Amino acid sequence: MTSTIPATARTSPARALICRGCGAEYPLIAQHACYECFGPLEVGYDAAALARVTRAEIEAGPANIWRYAPLLPTGQDPSARVTLDPGLTPLVAAPRLGAEFGIDAPLWIKDDSANPTHSFKDRVVSVALTAARGLGFTRFACASTGNLANSVAAHAARAGVPSVVFIPADLESGKVVTTAVYGGELVAVDGSYDDVNRLCGELVETDEFEDTAFVNVNVRPYYAEGSKTLGYEVAEQLGWRIPEQVVIPMASGELLTKVDKAFTELVEIGLAEAPAGGWRVFGAQSAGCNPIATALHAGTDVITPVRPTGIAKSLNIGDPAAGAYALEAVRRTGGWMDFADDDEIRDAIRRLARTTGVFAETAGGVTVAVLAKLVASGRLDPARETVVYNTGEGLKTLDAVAGVVGPTHRVRPSLRAAREAGLLG
Ligand SMILES: *Cc1c(COP(=O)(O)O)cnc(C)c1O
Ligand SMILES: [Zn+2]
Repeated sequence: MTSTIPATARTSPARALICRGCGAEYPLIAQHACYECFGPLEVGYDAAALARVTRAEIEAGPANIWRYAPLLPTGQDPSARVTLDPGLTPLVAAPRLGAEFGIDAPLWIKDDSANPTHSFKDRVVSVALTAARGLGFTRFACASTGNLANSVAAHAARAGVPSVVFIPADLESGKVVTTAVYGGELVAVDGSYDDVNRLCGELVETDEFEDTAFVNVNVRPYYAEGSKTLGYEVAEQLGWRIPEQVVIPMASGELLTKVDKAFTELVEIGLAEAPAGGWRVFGAQSAGCNPIATALHAGTDVITPVRPTGIAKSLNIGDPAAGAYALEAVRRTGGWMDFADDDEIRDAIRRLARTTGVFAETAGGVTVAVLAKLVASGRLDPARETVVYNTGEGLKTLDAVAGVVGPTHRVRPSLRAAREAGLLG
């Protein structure tokens, strides 16, 4: 939109947009692909500015993602933010879940369902829309698999900015209602997420959408940086330690790459310690949409797009934009990827709920089911500390388990009926 560096970026350590493909550099504007090679652009930082950040500075910050503002591209001015102040979600010890899978080392659930719109997307949207406002955009938009829709509509409502959100028409009602309630335009598209995304890629080029920031299209580099806070936070919550193993759900694969980037930064600038032997990153997909895991299993760099099916709709991106980089991070760190089918996902949602009190959406079911598979196949070491990311809330995908759980008894309201039903032993 504008070609000047946004005011919000002037107090940030961000230096340039850098092409992940060829390394070409661009100013910090609204651009997501390289003119030279069409590769995706990523925010690059001034190493010296990052190195000046201290633990004390972060610990003195607010109890949300903005405590990491010195490591983000959006600057340090709270009044410039478009945000619901997400973050600092619970890191829940899960020894009973660990025992079910034969994991003896500490096992943690990073429960990001505790964010304001109940998924990790509030992190990426707060960073993307703060950057967007700094760049002069006056309308907010996205292409969504569900949770992003909630978050963009809610952020726009809080900021009093018009929004237009694009979703596949077959989305869960629990994600349609929880978006529509915030007002704003909500466009159901007859097609898959990949169709929705393609449409948004065309709209963003039109004059009518010149004023519009699509969080995961034209301001995607800033959006992606918001995911780093899920890496910073886990390290800080562990006492400034990087865990030995992390298991992360993948849609575009971006979150996985950014957690790894966050760990790398923290170690480079001396804020956190890496475990002896480094950390290992594991990726989780569903059997209905597993293009990244399939490429890893086939030992190839070529990710073949799929047409997604199955209940884990928030992860149903058939043509994952960051898939190649997720493969790179998993291979480099000695991790692995696997996938789970719908029955395994339902079972894992119940198992997680039963053993930790955390009710996850289908994406969390995918991740816990894949954790079990990784232990069973020997890819994940049950003797090493592991953090599993739950990125969304079970109430938004109730249908996934509504048919398989319910009251265990039904009685008339009398002691005799309770006795007959076996409630008194
Ligand atoms: C969007 C989303 C993800 C993954 O996001 P990517 O960065 O695209 O891989 C994971 N879990 C949930 C619940 C999501 O909504
Ligand atoms: Zn390039």
